[in-house]
Amino acid sequence: MQDFINQLPQLAKDKHNENKKFFAKLKKKPPKKLDHIMQELHDEEFEQTDCLQCANCCKTTGPLFTDKDVERIAKHLKLKPRQFEEQYLKMDDEGDLILQQTPCSFLAADNYCLIYEVRPKACREYPHTDRKKFQQISNLTLKNVSICPAAYNIVEKMKAKIPL
Ligand code: SF4
Ligand code: SF4
Repeated sequence: MQDFINQLPQLAKDKHNENKKFFAKLKKKPPKKLDHIMQELHDEEFEQTDCLQCANCCKTTGPLFTDKDVERIAKHLKLKPRQFEEQYLKMDDEGDLILQQTPCSFLAADNYCLIYEVRPKACREYPHTDRKKFQQISNLTLKNVSICPAAYNIVEKMKAKIPL
């Protein structure tokens, strides 16, 4: 797994133009059963992917935190939302709340998430490959294939399965 993760940025770079063209066509003419196809591809891939052997998303990128995420996690940590923000978060150029540092402060050495039960919505949904109307998040997916081995595999299988 680690070898694949190390190679992923280059593999994703090599596929970038092909993926970009594919997603442009997908956006124009999404198949009727796209939601169903993506759910199947996502489930198949995650049946054989052990995120605990990877955690590359938690190590290299971070989620956006919604107000609800902040409230829930702060309560769990017995902090006031303001204290939680000051200790762990910062605002990015677009005004979104993100982690002050990567790897994420809540990632333990064994790749477990220390706040798993209350983790941000974006962490629960990452890499968003079972999202409805998947064609609408192509820019995010183009980025995620360089971070997430499962997303990379899903997009490769998707291209094989959906002739455009
Ligand atoms: S979601 Fe993707 S990047 Fe994150 S741990 Fe699982 S396989 Fe790795
Ligand atoms: S909160 Fe948990 S799941 Fe989300 S990035 Fe941090 S360690 Fe990973």
